[in-house]
Amino acid sequence: MDGPERTKHVRRRALVAGGAGFLGAHLCRRLVEDGYDVMAVDSLVTGRMSNLDELLDNTVGERRVRFVRHDVTEPFDETFDASSDIVFNLACCASPIHYQAQPVHTLKTCLEGALNLLQLAHRNGARIFQASTSEVYGEPETHPQKEAYRGAVSTTGPRACYDEGKRCAETLFFDYRRQHGTQIKVARIFNTYGPFMREDDGRVVSNLIVQALRNEPMTIYGEGRQTRSFCYVDDLVEGIMRLMVTPPTFTGPVNLGNPVEVTVLELAERIIALTGSRSRLVRKPMPTDDPTRRCPDISLAREQLDWEPRVPLDEGLRRTIAWFASQEASRKARVTE
Ligand code: NAD
Ligand code: UDP
Repeated sequence: MDGPERTKHVRRRALVAGGAGFLGAHLCRRLVEDGYDVMAVDSLVTGRMSNLDELLDNTVGERRVRFVRHDVTEPFDETFDASSDIVFNLACCASPIHYQAQPVHTLKTCLEGALNLLQLAHRNGARIFQASTSEVYGEPETHPQKEAYRGAVSTTGPRACYDEGKRCAETLFFDYRRQHGTQIKVARIFNTYGPFMREDDGRVVSNLIVQALRNEPMTIYGEGRQTRSFCYVDDLVEGIMRLMVTPPTFTGPVNLGNPVEVTVLELAERIIALTGSRSRLVRKPMPTDDPTRRCPDISLAREQLDWEPRVPLDEGLRRTIAWFASQEASRKARVTE
């Protein structure tokens, strides 16, 4: 092939909003492995450039990842137009301490971020993914939670900026599909953990692992009898990728999570056993509106995506502990330098 024909080969392009965050960085890595050119867009409020170091520093071969610092509450102008055949909206702080620190901005991020990214996807004829959440179920009255359950969410509590923001973002996605025919994919993600979480992220897995590795008191909120169902990040990313190649008629929302439910106390005990920590458990007050139980029904994901998590909790925790241990070792080395 000569001349212009040669340059006509199709390169798949993905835009990942929230690409420097925990899940976003894993997704960028997976997209590169699958042959995509990736534009990671992030305001860096909780995301870190170091999460993308390996991908941005790729001097071997062609660089496939670009980073743009941008707040999704700002519109995406035409300079973003050539960036995407596929758009992922992961931009939003996911840890309660972080999303509650600037609640008004969290709500704006959920609403205006979804709207701005939907406009971009619509302009470019791109397929668009929304990282929704199990939080749309609030304090669930049915168990495990199926997608058909409509949730019990406080509109006024401290979690509402996130929960209601994510609920409204789902509405925007479905209205865009109804009004403009946009190809949408919505996943309700349940608690996911793994390497690249911040040590000060504030969520339970990272808190307990970091405290255990430092032999510091491990913080249990309330009695620790509340449950969560923890999914290892590689399984989650696999679920997202499978969702994106389903036929346009399948939009979700679909639950993505690990249906193995554990109490916070059980999680702490497993982490102590796996780290050999000398930490003791300390009780802290239960945060307002903290859900009592949470567990996904993943029948729909099994049926439509042929997907279920593969990594058992102990194995996922081992990998995550190893990663945090290496971070701790680098931190200590920097302190003694
Ligand atoms: P994270 O906090 O590590 O990542 C969020 C990323 O979004 C960060 O890089 C942050 O800087 C960026 N961001 C936040 N507000 C922004 C804004 N206004 N403009 C641009 N960038 C912004 O959290 P995560 O665990 O990686 O979560 C990623 C997405 O997945 C979030 O949308 C979250 O709601 C969703 N989710 C995650 C989980 C989970 O357990 N990890 C569960 C349910 C849903
Ligand atoms: N939690 C805890 N100790 C911590 C952090 C969290 O006991 O140091 C509890 C928290 O109250 C909640 C559960 O662990 O019941 C999961 O909290 P996380 O913030 O990870 O996620 P979410 O509440 O959004 O599911």
